[in-house]
Amino acid sequence: MLILMASDHTKKQLADVLARVRKLRLKPHVIPGKNSVAVGITGNSGALDKTLFEALPGVREAVRVTRPYKLAGRDFKHGDTVVPVGPYDIGGRGLIVIAGPCAVESEEQLIRIARAVKKAGAQMLRGGAFKPRTSPYAFQGLGKQGLKLLAAAKKETGLPIVTEVLDQRSLDDVAEYADVLQVGARNMQNFALLKDLGKLRKPVMLKRGLSATLDEWLMSAEYLLSEGNDKLFLCERGIRAFSDHARNTLDLNVVPAVKELSHLPIIVDPSHATGVRARVAPMARAAVAAGAHGLMIEVHDRPDQALCDGPQALHPDDFAVLMRDLAAIGAAVGRDMAEPKFGRQ
Ligand code: PEP
Ligand code: MN
Repeated sequence: MLILMASDHTKKQLADVLARVRKLRLKPHVIPGKNSVAVGITGNSGALDKTLFEALPGVREAVRVTRPYKLAGRDFKHGDTVVPVGPYDIGGRGLIVIAGPCAVESEEQLIRIARAVKKAGAQMLRGGAFKPRTSPYAFQGLGKQGLKLLAAAKKETGLPIVTEVLDQRSLDDVAEYADVLQVGARNMQNFALLKDLGKLRKPVMLKRGLSATLDEWLMSAEYLLSEGNDKLFLCERGIRAFSDHARNTLDLNVVPAVKELSHLPIIVDPSHATGVRARVAPMARAAVAAGAHGLMIEVHDRPDQALCDGPQALHPDDFAVLMRDLAAIGAAVGRDMAEPKFGRQ
């Protein structure tokens, strides 16, 4: 429910509304608006009686919010969310490109690729230390050692680190090293993990589940927001459909849909969405044209030797060309490549 306060309400009247919400053991969220203030309510499992609030002085109207997600939707927040990560903002005018190998394999591999993506203009470095693999026999990642290598690459290049948190057990370790904790597609509905991440006050990138609807995705975002973590952005990485010409089906349609329904930033991962190197750049360009706030792209300088996802990794030279194309497409749709904000790191 959303309680719209009259434009001439007093501080005391607003305080009384908040007190009534809390008395019902529900949570009020004050939403400043252009002309007045609204109070959003979360915590109720069923519909609330509007008259409970409309009878209070200073209240203009109580309106029901029918969408299942509240904090993730636009009813409770008017402006767009901007997530600060190191010297960059995700969700503003500036495009953010997160690039790097699928998995951290060795110090030499990571530093080489980190330097290359930095040179090409990437703003952040990706690399999985804990890898969710379809086969238990496949490379599972270097674990904590991989996190330490990511820290070394950050020291070397200054790039903030985006890395996956696979489970609650490794959460503290990942949180110590990551600037952005990535929730992978397979974990989008790991609600226990989402609750823990919600209590953490660190940026989280929530990838879309393998076959998640937009509502399900935003409900997962709601878990984080309702626990108090609003440093959150979404990543479309392709969904499972009937197509068999690609690893997944990139749902670019979801980019404007997310922007319409939610204030959360959304980036696109064309690497996992296509699974094929030659298709990564075209879909990356399309994602920027469609209004994405950024991209996550897998890059490897020796893809034939990669321990994970070699066939979809861009060579650093091709990545550099793509970065120039993205800047040009960004300019055509009113976006720049994000520049570091002075004095922030
Ligand atoms: C990844 O980004 O490394 C990854 C495993 O992606 P997803 O969870 O989208 O499959
Ligand atoms: Mn990968």
